[in-house]
Amino acid sequence: MTVTTGENTVDAEFDVVVVGSGIAALFGAAAAVSRGLTTCLVEKTDRFGGTSAYSGGAVWLPGNAVLARDGLEDSVERGRTYFRAVVGDRTDRDLQDAFLSTGPRVVDFLTHDLGIPTRFQAFPDYFDAPGRQETGRSIYPKPIRSEEVGARTGDIRRSVPADQFGADEDTAKLEGGRAWVARLLLALDAMDAAELRLSTAVEELVRDDDGRVVGVVTRGDEGRQVLRARHGVLVAAGGFERSAELRARWQQMPTADWSASHPDTGSGDAVRMFERVGARLDLLDQSWWCPATLFPNGHAAFTLGFRSGIIVDATGRRFANELLPYDQMGRRMHARITDGAGDEFWCVFDDAEAGGYPAICVPAPDADELRAAGLWHTAASIGDLAAATGLDPEALAESVERFNALAERGRDTDFGRGEDPYGRFFLGASTPGECLRPLPGGRLHAVRLVLGDLGTKGGAVIDTNGAVLDTTGCPIPGLYAAGNSSASVSGEAYPGPGVPLGSGMTMAFRAVAHMAGEPLPIEGSRVD
Ligand SMILES: Cc1cc2nc3c(=O)[nH]c(=O)nc-3n(C[C@H](O)[C@H](O)[C@H](O)COP(=O)(O)OP(=O)(O)OC[C@H]3O[C@@H](n4cnc5c(N)ncnc54)[C@H](O)[C@@H]3O)c2cc1C
Repeated sequence: MTVTTGENTVDAEFDVVVVGSGIAALFGAAAAVSRGLTTCLVEKTDRFGGTSAYSGGAVWLPGNAVLARDGLEDSVERGRTYFRAVVGDRTDRDLQDAFLSTGPRVVDFLTHDLGIPTRFQAFPDYFDAPGRQETGRSIYPKPIRSEEVGARTGDIRRSVPADQFGADEDTAKLEGGRAWVARLLLALDAMDAAELRLSTAVEELVRDDDGRVVGVVTRGDEGRQVLRARHGVLVAAGGFERSAELRARWQQMPTADWSASHPDTGSGDAVRMFERVGARLDLLDQSWWCPATLFPNGHAAFTLGFRSGIIVDATGRRFANELLPYDQMGRRMHARITDGAGDEFWCVFDDAEAGGYPAICVPAPDADELRAAGLWHTAASIGDLAAATGLDPEALAESVERFNALAERGRDTDFGRGEDPYGRFFLGASTPGECLRPLPGGRLHAVRLVLGDLGTKGGAVIDTNGAVLDTTGCPIPGLYAAGNSSASVSGEAYPGPGVPLGSGMTMAFRAVAHMAGEPLPIEGSRVD
């Protein structure tokens, strides 16, 4: 159902209504208010931040002033060359140019208008393509002490270990995505024309008789309300990663439970609302994929930066370079599942790190807890490990022998492990050989991996102003989308660390400029 204005009494009126409270939404709201637009931001859970709060906080925006200040030579043109090479024509070129050319303005606004301190931190771009930065080109917010955040700390989504795994929260400071959320909330709190509502879900878009989106119907503590949006509604309400129904419909995923996103946020409300108003949808089969470590409580944690060992599928065989950027590794895992090899994966490693897990996983898994749940096995031989995991003993033995032979030669001619700077980055290695330490004959471990994701990336197709297009390709007046509610500008690729957040912020920024009647130009030269 889509309600029309005739059926409603308006409870409150704003220039802009923002749906959701991830970083794209908060940033969009701040940009709207700074353009003089009264703005109401509506979040359905009892905390701000969504999956954005879980994130590492990397924001990928080529050629921005913070990169230059921190000593990285970069430019929008160089970023565009890279983005084009990686994304190709899967998304509209003008949309790509709008995103890339606006990045520096986004960072200037963050720095000068919102006063948010950021810094560059090395993390390589994910593809070997022209224009790549091997140090990456992502900026991060500076951590913020809880004292500075004050009472708002309790309104911010907790960290992944505390939220999903029962760990104690670090109460001293907020970092990464939580630092973004805290700093943006403080900026909004300082603005009179911003109203922020928690525990209030947007249920419907309201349209007038001409089909223009003029508001939303919400449900919260005050019951049902109609909020009028004079200039537009920005939907930045995340993806549908936690909807079993929508994932089964579009993605044939084993389960929605293995997403590393926040369990209550990626319900697909946005894409359902878009469908009801006749929006054009795209990239629905796509996610920001990753390997994930399965925990006894059924949650799976984002895992990257493997330092040693091998990863095998349910057949006991290697199927990819273990040091691939996580989205590309996830895609290889997805392909194995689609090929019928099953959804079971194991990271097999030795005692090199005193039996510790040789990968970055937040939280770090507790070996005993995982062992008790059959998700971590330790055995004295390959045969015993195969028996414990249920893997074919001959296949597993062959995989280890083959890997050891490649390691002896210092070249992974099967999958190219260590050939790419991204793979070497986490080991601090300068040659492929350093990434190929053989697995000795002694005690071995196997930890269960699954195909996870950082969220879905399909949704409403938007134009260069962030306006949602209908199925004929025309903008639906008054309706805008950003972040994982929209079909990602990066198409079927994950070009580098921070593209989800960077593109979400940028398109939210462009959307509110358009709502204010001051659409942003697409600056700079075009590269085809
Ligand atoms: C562990 C981890 C690390 C990551 N690290 C990075 C990184 O460093 N850099 C990067 O770019 N990306 C990273 N990502 C991915 C990134 O966090 C997500 O892609 C991004 O946060 C999605 O932002 P969003 O604004 O679209 O949605 P979200 O941040 O999920 O926000 C959506 C919000 O909308 C709310 N909402 C949903 N429906 C409604 C409704 N009907 N009414 C009102 N509110 C609603 C939700 O409750 C939620 O709070 C990471 C992800 C994970 C899980």
